[in-house]
Amino acid sequence: MINIVTGGAGFIGSHLIDWLMKSGEEVICLDNLCTGDRKNIARWDNHPKFKFIKHDITNPINIEVEKIWHLACPASSKNYKRDSIKTSLTNSIGTFNVLELATKNKAKVLFTSTSEIYGNSPSNCLLESNFGYVNPNGFKSCYSEGKRLAESLCFDFFRSHKTQIRVARIFNVYGPRIKKNDGRVISNFIYQAIDQKALTINGSGKQKRCFCYVDDIIPGLIKLMDCDFCGPINLGNPKEEYNILSIANLIKRKINVDSPFKKLPKPPDEIMKRKPSIKLAKEILNWEPKINIDLGLEKTISYIKLEDL
Ligand code: UDP
Repeated sequence: MINIVTGGAGFIGSHLIDWLMKSGEEVICLDNLCTGDRKNIARWDNHPKFKFIKHDITNPINIEVEKIWHLACPASSKNYKRDSIKTSLTNSIGTFNVLELATKNKAKVLFTSTSEIYGNSPSNCLLESNFGYVNPNGFKSCYSEGKRLAESLCFDFFRSHKTQIRVARIFNVYGPRIKKNDGRVISNFIYQAIDQKALTINGSGKQKRCFCYVDDIIPGLIKLMDCDFCGPINLGNPKEEYNILSIANLIKRKINVDSPFKKLPKPPDEIMKRKPSIKLAKEILNWEPKINIDLGLEKTISYIKLEDL
């Protein structure tokens, strides 16, 4: 099977590539390296079934392929806001190019959408049928509305060209290979605690997220690609719901430091709570996360300590 992974040098993309390579698949990694890191995939460089192409998906590409895993897009709010116009173009033109490539090759294409498409929904547990409460023109819209448009493009290609689409909505993934300056909460807190700096708390710190370890997400993506269901389907860990202050305290305890907190203003369009329903993923994919926050944090902390040496 020839696989293309767009954004394959990034955090989730590189873990997906590890899984595909270990399964004996052929993998072409496309990445413009705007947030991805060549070292995440360096172990496969000399492998005969692996190829890296530095390519920006907002430009069309023509390669023979059977499965496309479309992950390319800066995923942390710090990174996607930095060049917001480019983020919108990656989600729109980039996804269009990927869908054209899939259609031409009669390939399957899995698009990684996001829990951000639900916006600030008052719902306690987000079902895939929830249409979302998203600001269409705020600082985060390039990502949340960008991903919504990309989902819409996927389904229009399905309806118009019978393109074999799969859409996953991913909720707050963490684990090894999130970059130091990426800005996501768990990696921020671990690096801050190890460096004996204050842990930066945005707003009250009462915002809640459900945290899913990266090794749990990969089998969800694989199962979705291999099933007959287009999606959208939520992938996340509803059992591991924490507010930001409690995650900060847990990380301090695990690293055994007494760093202070530094209160920062609440970011615009902050989401106050976000919990996935994974009923559909359980029923259709027979998937649910297995790694609890203690184990996930320990693995992530060990990786970061080694990286930081
Ligand atoms: N957050 C925080 N301090 C940080 C980074 C993030 O308090 O140093 C908060 C952020 O405002 C949000 C939550 O942690 O409420 C999760 O942030 P992240 O960027 O990891 O994910 P997202 O907001 O996209 O769910």
